[in-house]
Amino acid sequence: MLSTMQDVPLTVTRILVHGSLVHGKSTVTTWTGDGAPQRRTFREIGVRAIQLAHALGDELGIGRGDRVATLMWNNAEHMEAYLAIPSMGAVLHTLNLRLPADQLTWIVNHAADRVVLVNGTLLPLLAPLLPQLRSVEHLVVVGPGDTSLLDAVPAGNRPQVHAYEELIAGRPTRYDWPELDELEAAAMCYTSGTTGDPKGVVYSHRSVYLHSLQVNAAESMGLTSHDTSLPVVPMFHVNAWGIPHAAFMSGINLLMPDRFLQPAPLAEMIESERPTHAAAVPTIWQGLLAELTAKPRDVTSLKQVTIGGSACPPSLMKAFDEQLGVRLVQAWGMTETSPLGTVAHPPAGAEGEEEWDYRITQGRFPASVEARLIGPDGSVMPWDGRSAGELEVRGPWIAAAYFGGAGEEPLRPEDKFSPDGWLRTGDVGVISDDGYLTLTDRAKDVIKSGGEWISSVDLENHIMAHPDVAEAAVVAVPDERWGERPLATVVLREGATADYAALRTFLEARVAHWQVPERWAVVQAVPKTSVGKFDKKVIRRSYADGELDVTQLP
Ligand code: ADP
Repeated sequence: MLSTMQDVPLTVTRILVHGSLVHGKSTVTTWTGDGAPQRRTFREIGVRAIQLAHALGDELGIGRGDRVATLMWNNAEHMEAYLAIPSMGAVLHTLNLRLPADQLTWIVNHAADRVVLVNGTLLPLLAPLLPQLRSVEHLVVVGPGDTSLLDAVPAGNRPQVHAYEELIAGRPTRYDWPELDELEAAAMCYTSGTTGDPKGVVYSHRSVYLHSLQVNAAESMGLTSHDTSLPVVPMFHVNAWGIPHAAFMSGINLLMPDRFLQPAPLAEMIESERPTHAAAVPTIWQGLLAELTAKPRDVTSLKQVTIGGSACPPSLMKAFDEQLGVRLVQAWGMTETSPLGTVAHPPAGAEGEEEWDYRITQGRFPASVEARLIGPDGSVMPWDGRSAGELEVRGPWIAAAYFGGAGEEPLRPEDKFSPDGWLRTGDVGVISDDGYLTLTDRAKDVIKSGGEWISSVDLENHIMAHPDVAEAAVVAVPDERWGERPLATVVLREGATADYAALRTFLEARVAHWQVPERWAVVQAVPKTSVGKFDKKVIRRSYADGELDVTQLP
């Protein structure tokens, strides 16, 4: 028997219309760095998104399924693109502006992007790539920028160049939006491709819609129209974790940092604009903590800060609590999971140490994300907080395949998708009987020492709790006797000196003695990936190439 309910497709168009009408007075504030932030209401953003859709369709000939890329910071115009492109039936393709040139070129060609919306300040990055970009017909330059950089591009390879404001000015302020199928592509994002080519994840209208509902939910980020969110996480890093689309649903005001992502301007914008929510990877919050320790500012407006993308050191969480009175809430996810996979809100009744035990986990799964752990022998492991396995997930906003390229079949590599259709995350951990996930490592970062596994993340968290240490990254290095052993690379706090024996004693009190690293090296900074995570393959390579000054303790 079928239901008697209406079959209304869940689309980004509905999010756009809802936000503009119901939350028309909510605002998007973009930091400009000159003391006069730019402010636009959702209503204005909605109208400008309609004008952008007209410009792309009527003027540039963009149609259903065409890819329109953005190479932009977090700002109001990027928000307009987020709404306009999917609503007109085209596909929003956010480009990671920190990728190396060859990867960016590969990605644009693979996605066959027809248009690139680019912030003028990023033209120096894009211009040199243009001769290799085969599919790009139009460049839309947003904000001021040196367009003379494009003169060097040979005429035959030069796309048509448009100025955003001129392109959308005077266009109609109504749009007869197409009735889209909710399973059509709305947006796409490539994983940064640590091995092999980058892989394209294509989000549907339905997945964006359902994911937005969950982002707003109290047990996730709890975004409401009474609040202001500061997504420091870039709009090219898994759609700023879903916050922009979720904002047009809940009406939460947005504070967009644009290109001002350094600790000092972040502290300044938090103090003056008083956001109640923010989201970013741990490195950003490490930097902000150091900034605020050196030069205190009032950041107490922040009621909740979502932290994810890599493991959050408990010492960082505690420092935010104790020094700043700001609560960091850990979340786990991936490009393939839209990204919301878990959020670590403690259960009712947990207080004191017990509350901390929950807060330092990766968190609980929302109802739409099903999870299982696959043990070394391929069997499903129990949720007992002890039995470890690789995490597999499935759900309506979890990828079932990767984009194969224009006209090509989707790709379902065996190491990423199980035969029965679950996503293999490559993350290893345990799940407690009340559904809290604790990740011990990425499968490829686990240190396999003499038949035992050592969690690199666990060692890092302990080392980073030492008062002399600002940051620490641990990687596996080859060892004749044990197969692999941990190498600890540490960044010291200002004024501290390297006392490896003291660090070893500190660790011995916290982990099993056979897990304590013998190899130590002080580094100026831990190398980071394009989205600010520890780049362990770079550390492994530096070690192999003999570039690190390693001290081996007896
Ligand atoms: P990349 O693979 O390029 O880093 P993603 O941003 O998709 O791209 O990374 C997803 C991965 O980041 C996860 O598989 C996991 O290993 C790691 N990760 C994300 N959030 C957390 C977290 N809270 N704790 C530990 N690891 C995390």
